[in-house]
Amino acid sequence: MLFAVVATLLFHEILSWPMLIVCLAIGSIVGTFASRLIAMTSMPEMVAIFNGLGGGASLLVGWAALFYSLELTVAVTVILSVLIGGVTFSGSVIAWGKLGEWLPSKSIIFLGQRWINGLLLISVLGCTVCFILDPSSQSIYLYIVIGLALTIGILAVLPIGGADMPVVISLLNSYSGIAACAAGFAINNVVLIVAGSLVGAAGFILTSIMCKAMNRSLVSVLFSGFGASKAAQKIDGEARAISVEDVYYVLEGASTVVIVPGYGMAVAQAQHVVRELGALLEDNGTEVSYAIHPVAGRMPGHMNVLLAEANVSYEQLIEMDVINPRMAAVDVAVVIGANDVVNPSARDDSDSPIYGMPIINVDEARIVLVLKRSLASGFAGVDNPLFFAPNTRMLFGDAKASISAVVNQFKT
Ligand code: NDP
Repeated sequence: MLFAVVATLLFHEILSWPMLIVCLAIGSIVGTFASRLIAMTSMPEMVAIFNGLGGGASLLVGWAALFYSLELTVAVTVILSVLIGGVTFSGSVIAWGKLGEWLPSKSIIFLGQRWINGLLLISVLGCTVCFILDPSSQSIYLYIVIGLALTIGILAVLPIGGADMPVVISLLNSYSGIAACAAGFAINNVVLIVAGSLVGAAGFILTSIMCKAMNRSLVSVLFSGFGASKAAQKIDGEARAISVEDVYYVLEGASTVVIVPGYGMAVAQAQHVVRELGALLEDNGTEVSYAIHPVAGRMPGHMNVLLAEANVSYEQLIEMDVINPRMAAVDVAVVIGANDVVNPSARDDSDSPIYGMPIINVDEARIVLVLKRSLASGFAGVDNPLFFAPNTRMLFGDAKASISAVVNQFKT
């Protein structure tokens, strides 16, 4: 991309050398600081804002194209890049806020929302046609389309929340590609068309994989609001805590152990000690595997990346559909900072907001050890009956500290 940008700017004499160097330096400094300062756990927010910036850039590129040509094909592609880019930009900002939890992560629905959305869509279509009939870089219809696109982006993402967020992130990624592709057509730039199509297609494939993982159709993700009409059920009961020593005795006597990582493992950066524990268990003759839920963590492939970073062998990572039929024969399931992806109410309680989302059936194992700091709910904000099940024991504390303590028990 750097080569493409520099070559275009230079050979078309758009920018002078000094200006180019200043712009490159500013971008590089911002990028370097962003990558250094952002915590690993904030990567999903960063991905969301990258999508948004991609959309915003396409909007600006499309708009700028109008200063060079007002042909019909240019007008059509410009309005597409402005429209999709605007929706992507504001939608991604809302997704960023939801992932960073400075906006409520659950779905936000208000009265008359569908009517307002319908009205916005009709208005945007009308203004798009008016713009195409009389295109200009100062057209009032262009400004209205930009305003409406930004509003539609906000209103489209607000009702999506809870466990549906992975779908919207990949969908916005796809939109940013489509917007870039449209901008590429507007300025007749092959690199942008090819790169945009790749991102658009890859994002769309990821979206359909995410929908499948959540057992949801794209239409219901976009329009029904995640669990909006359902109240989270209150769970009565007592969770049983377990000590580090007792966890050691349980694991030491187990012949099969399945480790189920979740977002808390990423927060604690516990992947290295998890691998160390796995290796110690294997030395002890235990069969160890890692069960991976497709939406565990906060971005697609989050757990795979963390475990690969810790050098866990790829063969030991078992997908949800493969591990579930084996779960009843497992001695101990060790849940490390996972919550929503092991919540049995998604399977058993039709009133639960997450009902229908496939989970890893850890509750079927003989013993379940859950490592987290409290009984707090996960991303979807739904209580978890697993913590109160008779075969569950809670090891409270930071995942890294807890596992390190168990590892020390094995070593002494
Ligand atoms: P959850 O968010 O459901 O739960 C994570 C748990 O980790 C929390 O309940 C928290 O409990 C615990 N935790 C946090 N910090 C620590 C720590 N330092 N040590 C130990 N535990 C800790 O995570 P899951 O992975 O189970 O589920 C992912 C959720 O995120 C799903 O709802 C999914 O839809 C959503 N999502 C996924 C995306 C993706 O692409 N994968 C993108 C966006 C959303 P406590 O505070 O008690 O410690």
